[in-house]
Amino acid sequence: MRYGIFSDIHSNLEAFDTVLDALSKEAIDSYLCIGDIVGYAANPRECIKKFQELSCISVIGNHDAAAAGILDTEYFNPTAKIAIFWTQQIISDKDKQFLGSLEYTYQNEDLILVHGTLNNPERFHYLLDASLAIKTFELMDRPVCFVGHSHIPGIFVQDDDKISYLDEFKIDISKDKKYIVNVGSVGQPRDSDSKAAYCIYDTDLGLIEIKRIEYNIKETQEKIIRAGLPKSLATRLARWS
Ligand code: ZN
Repeated sequence: MRYGIFSDIHSNLEAFDTVLDALSKEAIDSYLCIGDIVGYAANPRECIKKFQELSCISVIGNHDAAAAGILDTEYFNPTAKIAIFWTQQIISDKDKQFLGSLEYTYQNEDLILVHGTLNNPERFHYLLDASLAIKTFELMDRPVCFVGHSHIPGIFVQDDDKISYLDEFKIDISKDKKYIVNVGSVGQPRDSDSKAAYCIYDTDLGLIEIKRIEYNIKETQEKIIRAGLPKSLATRLARWS
């Protein structure tokens, strides 16, 4: 099985289109999304539609839940909050129902998906270091769990009691280890690389690879400005390029 896995699209249609185009050339059997289809950028409706056309499973992200009205925006920063209120005005009730219907976790025979952490997935914790990874490793009854949320790609490996963090983006899976893979973000990377991120998991080859691709950042930025969203949401897309 060859999975195409991505996260944190954040209403960035140019990045989403570019990633889907790249994945269409990768002989993918199954598409999986780790949430935050909406929030921040200017094309929430278009990204939801594109997602629905794809035949893809997704778990819910905090921005999806907030846009659907099932998560309080109290803990959102001011610009994220503005973007959520804007998104709520733009999307339909049907879109909100769809976002609100996404599950917190997904599991099949090969893997688990969760936006934040497996402990209290509805709280959307950030999985940023080994001490925070322990609880998720404890709750995993599959060898690999894919996460998003921080927009920083990287891989935690548990080997017996030892947890290490790899910032390599291509690894061979070993059967006696467990892995938590943060696939990074399609629409708003935060790791000093402005390129959109996505991941391929090939279970036959035992290979996980996080890839990066350039997209038309300028167009996304112009749309954000034209929509009247905070300018910082446009500038941050290219801050690192
Ligand atoms: Zn996000």
